[in-house]
Amino acid sequence: MCRHLGYLGPPVALDELLLRPEHALLEQTWAPNDMRGSGTVNVDGFGAGWYASDSTVPERYRRSVPMWTDTNFAELAARTTSGAVVAAVRSATAGMPVTEPACAPFTDGRVLFSHNGSVSGWPDSLAPLAAGLDAVDLMTVDAPVDSAVVWALVQQRLSKGDSPENVLGGLVTEIATLAPDSRLNFLFSDGDTVVATTWTHALSVRRTPGKVTVASEPFGAPDEWEPVPDRHLVVATLDDVRVQAL
Ligand code: GLN
Repeated sequence: MCRHLGYLGPPVALDELLLRPEHALLEQTWAPNDMRGSGTVNVDGFGAGWYASDSTVPERYRRSVPMWTDTNFAELAARTTSGAVVAAVRSATAGMPVTEPACAPFTDGRVLFSHNGSVSGWPDSLAPLAAGLDAVDLMTVDAPVDSAVVWALVQQRLSKGDSPENVLGGLVTEIATLAPDSRLNFLFSDGDTVVATTWTHALSVRRTPGKVTVASEPFGAPDEWEPVPDRHLVVATLDDVRVQAL
């Protein structure tokens, strides 16, 4: 299963966040500690989204190759700093294509979104919810993968004015009812807040003065991290981290 993270704090070089720490997302590409379900490595692509200090709309970089093969990203990451980042490495669920548009983070406007897991019985199991998407939304789904359809549903619900925590929490419980064996760790950011869910997959939070990181697997100093219980929602800002049962 993929690995993802969200960071809020002082501007940090992307390589200091994603590549250099011990057991960083880069290392989680070939040696993740806590894969569940199918998949043993995260080599089917990666992505990073970040907010420049003068913009509320994120930049986004995705490739469908293992992160360690992309020397352009290593150079870009050394030169790019940001105070709000979402990144992911991908292990494609069986039967789903290895293409750039299938890689998280997905983005629209101010928002970045990632899904770590799979929707069991996809696409049939999601049909009742996808039926609520209009034809144009379905035509513009990023890629024929479960996560992209979930992302289309997230966009649709956010556009109706619902809060990110209600959108993510509501979708987890609705999808889990339709597709009970799913793994539904979602992660959202608008640059000010990170909202994340745990549903049969791991997640940890690191709170250090002036910054917060939410990640599938701890990296850097292990004792700085607290695990999030399963079936919970995390709402993190620089001022507060709230964890509540779903
Ligand atoms: N199911 C999604 C995909 O195929 C996410 C994969 C994962 O978390 N391993 O891209």
